[in-house]
Amino acid sequence: MSAPTNVTKQEFQAEVRQILDIVIHSLYTDKEIFVRELVSNASDALEKLRHLQHTEKEIFDSEAPLEITITTDAEARTITFADAGIGMTREELVENLGTIAHSGSKKFLQALSETQRKESALIGQFGVGFYSAFMVADKVTVATHSWRQDAEHLVWESDGKSEYSITPSEDVSRGCRIVVHLKEEHAEFCEKSRVQHILENYSNFVPFPILLDGERVNKVEALWMKSKSDISEDEYKEFYKFIAKAWDEPQYRMHFTADAPLDIHALLFVPQENTELFGFGQMDPGVGLYCKKILIDPNPRGLLPDWLRFVRGVIDSADLPLNISRETMQDSSLVKKLNRVVTRRFLKFLEGEAREKPEEYVKFFRKFGRFLREGVVNDTDHREDLAKLLRFESSSTEPGTLTSLADYVSRAKEDQGEIYFLSGDSRTGIETLPYLEAFKSRGIEVIYLTESGDDYVVRNLREFSGKKLVSGDSDTVELPDPVETPAGEALSGEALEGLCAFLKDKMGDAADDVLAGNRLVDSPLAALSPEHAPTAQMREFMKAMNPDQPAPPVKVRIEINPRHPLIHQLAAARTENPELAELVARLLLDQALLTAGFLEDRASMVNRGYSLMETALKK
Ligand code: ADP
Repeated sequence: MSAPTNVTKQEFQAEVRQILDIVIHSLYTDKEIFVRELVSNASDALEKLRHLQHTEKEIFDSEAPLEITITTDAEARTITFADAGIGMTREELVENLGTIAHSGSKKFLQALSETQRKESALIGQFGVGFYSAFMVADKVTVATHSWRQDAEHLVWESDGKSEYSITPSEDVSRGCRIVVHLKEEHAEFCEKSRVQHILENYSNFVPFPILLDGERVNKVEALWMKSKSDISEDEYKEFYKFIAKAWDEPQYRMHFTADAPLDIHALLFVPQENTELFGFGQMDPGVGLYCKKILIDPNPRGLLPDWLRFVRGVIDSADLPLNISRETMQDSSLVKKLNRVVTRRFLKFLEGEAREKPEEYVKFFRKFGRFLREGVVNDTDHREDLAKLLRFESSSTEPGTLTSLADYVSRAKEDQGEIYFLSGDSRTGIETLPYLEAFKSRGIEVIYLTESGDDYVVRNLREFSGKKLVSGDSDTVELPDPVETPAGEALSGEALEGLCAFLKDKMGDAADDVLAGNRLVDSPLAALSPEHAPTAQMREFMKAMNPDQPAPPVKVRIEINPRHPLIHQLAAARTENPELAELVARLLLDQALLTAGFLEDRASMVNRGYSLMETALKK
């Protein structure tokens, strides 16, 4: 029998088929998550409708109550979720339930391809939204009518395999009515008590009444409006799960209220995991803007600085106009004020946590530090406060232990006017650099920059607590005498001058100057960078961004260690064995540039090494 002509059948987008296939075959045990996902979608749709009520005159079924009804039917083996939210037009049905244009499942798929995690762990972490219904169902129907007066009455239906159908219908009321036809083995979800149990706690934060088989199951609580003393730990945790659509527990929580100069009720959470670290792309801002418990925008840009996009939660201000439009929101001076007040409070909050529970703070910093670094670079207003929150390893910390710039300053001698840093791939990498010995021999601490982009952050910061941040390989560094007088006679006079001129000649355009200095202890020489030259890490980054473009040339200064035996020997060889002296000089200079990150032509260096070996082994 052929299908009636008014039925449109359509294939799911390939990515959706992939998700459905995973969802249906997954061994993920917490199948009950579909209940929360569908309730959460219903709640979102109702919030959107409530917002439209302030901006639109004509709304279909305008009298329909803003509530969610859940009905179980053991005989038919179904559970039905109905809401009087915004509903969907035909185009929206195709877009929302046939593709992965929306955020949740897109992230899930990205995560699957980019991490080694098991899909079942990911389902738990992200949820797969609407499609999770197919974990328990062999058929799902969605009867819907959009809030728009002239929209069609429609029924979407699918078995979750490869296609879905959309059929015009009659008399569908506004919103969505989703019937989940349960597989036999999942019949438990049409038992009222089982569903009630799933909804416990969680449902209280759904801002609309939920009726389960005609009985009200939730209180509708705006937790952020309550006083702290009336809220239990569990309530906070459940609320976080609700508001962040999360399945984990929050790492931090900040709840604060103010009434002057602005009325603010803010409840913010930091999740356990930074999903950007898994390579899922930029997070959307996750702090919703409310006015007197009514949602104005769930993901407003500009409410908080971009670098705070990892925070989830709610900011409610009774001073906001309810009909504020999302487009002009960012320009509103009130929103700017909210931004300033809440950001400051949050920074203070983190500072307090760092002071009181440093170990936990470091855990947080390891995962979320990149947002703070981003803030230092982009947010000049908060740069100083953010800088207090940065943590680094240093020459005074144990491997794996982090320190703050403030602690660095407190350990430094009074007359040390600068904060020194060195960057490299790792602690060991930095500790083998010749630059470090200059500081170690003088008992001066050096901050280790090992995270990619760290040196860019520090360059942007420029100073901390009145002290300039200076790279330890910079030619501007001026150091006191070493604590212990270095061993060995220093090369001097004509021998030294002659050697410097000889080396300068071999350097050609790569060096400004070759001079003797007192920085080095164990190394014969080092290349020092001009103060504002991009560091090695930055040059690597520039190369990665623009592989075809040569990195801009940098003229270094070569400092030689006049006490080093190799320098003495080289000075002597210059007259006794010029051929060998030249080979040694060139290789030494290559190595200095390599260490500084400025050597472009590595192949020539390797060849010079061979020539030197040949000469050395010549009978
Ligand atoms: P997400 O909620 O992460 O966007 P879902 O797969 O749960 O992903 O839902 C996809 C989209 O379908 C939603 O973004 C929304 O636009 C639409 N949708 C889902 N449920 C409803 C509903 N009850 N009412 C209106 N639209 C809905």
